[in-house]
Amino acid sequence: MNLATLTACATCRQVLTEHSDEGRTVYRHPVTEDRHEVVPIDAGELQEVFHGCHTCTVGLPIWNYRTGLIQIGDLAAGVVATYTDRWHVCYRCAQFIEADDSEALTAHCAAAMLLPPRSDEYAILRTLHRGIILGREGRTLLTTTDWPPARITADMLPKIRDRLTRLLRGPANLPTPINNPDQRRALANHLDLVPMYWINREFTDLVNEVSGDQPPATATDDIAPTPAGLLAWPEPVGSPRHLAAVSWTPHADGWHVIGYRSVGSALDDDLMPALRHEIGWLVPIHAEYIARGATLDGRHPLGPLITTWLLINQQMAEVVPAKLPKGTTKAYQHRRLPAPEVRIVRIKPRSTPPPERTQSASARTRAKPDYRFWVSGHKRQQPYGPGRSLRRTIDIQPFLKGDEDLPIKMSTTVRVLGTPVTDKKRSTENG
Ligand SMILES: [Zn+2]
Ligand SMILES: [Zn+2]
Repeated sequence: MNLATLTACATCRQVLTEHSDEGRTVYRHPVTEDRHEVVPIDAGELQEVFHGCHTCTVGLPIWNYRTGLIQIGDLAAGVVATYTDRWHVCYRCAQFIEADDSEALTAHCAAAMLLPPRSDEYAILRTLHRGIILGREGRTLLTTTDWPPARITADMLPKIRDRLTRLLRGPANLPTPINNPDQRRALANHLDLVPMYWINREFTDLVNEVSGDQPPATATDDIAPTPAGLLAWPEPVGSPRHLAAVSWTPHADGWHVIGYRSVGSALDDDLMPALRHEIGWLVPIHAEYIARGATLDGRHPLGPLITTWLLINQQMAEVVPAKLPKGTTKAYQHRRLPAPEVRIVRIKPRSTPPPERTQSASARTRAKPDYRFWVSGHKRQQPYGPGRSLRRTIDIQPFLKGDEDLPIKMSTTVRVLGTPVTDKKRSTENG
């Protein structure tokens, strides 16, 4: 399930708040209920949308606050203005709200909106802000925020993991599909123990290059390097480049997989330590249960993860333990926690020089392609048992074929048709 789609109203192009009410998604206009019905569509389909903090109007919205429905009555005029019960709030405004500092919130927002302190508008703002601060009932982390990406290094992974588990165990809500308290706790407990993988830049470039064309792979027990894990790339991958990290944990007959976006330094310097402490580096953008036997190709939102796994499996990469700074390991010892396990995944250094690519008049019957390409996955009947008389079906995963010094040919998949097949009977087609 995609958690990162921003929804706006097609009529007024305002980004809408959304919440779940008895399994139904409810969309509302920001701040005040407009006279027209909301027409929710993917904000990406609109040229320009109005998307800002609902209190100061300028900040990047990060939290969705829930309050009682706020109404402000003007006794003299005998009118009641009805506001809303959901508020997208930026990080700075949220700091004032969490500190119960209504006056500071109003002063900050009025300055941002150029409202003079003794104006009627200022008075209304002040009343509204009191209503939000006194009437707040909880907040949910927005997973639609368009954060600039962070650069992630192997050394950072233990801390990134720990901030994520703290977010999962903390009081802030996450979007409904991933907010079940038992599941949040189970995921945090798993993540405490998982090996962490950091993909080096060269390998990440290869993943980006070939992932879009990766043929369907089957989710089997041996597709992932370990039954559970947290994997991060130095910079986001995928199309668009949003996916910064993925966690997978075994669940029922399959895996619970969550894709994350990274949080770069988007805020003023004075706010960054609090942001790192409270939210950390990763925000979930995709959650999916992948059943054993499901197939996923490179265009799936988690495609870069599958491609990374496949390339690790075909021994194109080597996995080496990262040497963490002494301070990091000592901190874990001090807290009597197992030392974090970070593995660096990098392209295997070549052990032999590349073969000479001269077309000799050898007995080679077919010209070897001068590019690398994906060979599709397939099922194979494998003989086993007494006298190899029995057959079992095994999944052969897609693999990238060709010498590593060759260029990669895109949109070329060699499909293997029929069973049983051997390498010599492959049929080639351009797809
Ligand atoms: Zn509208
Ligand atoms: Zn704000």
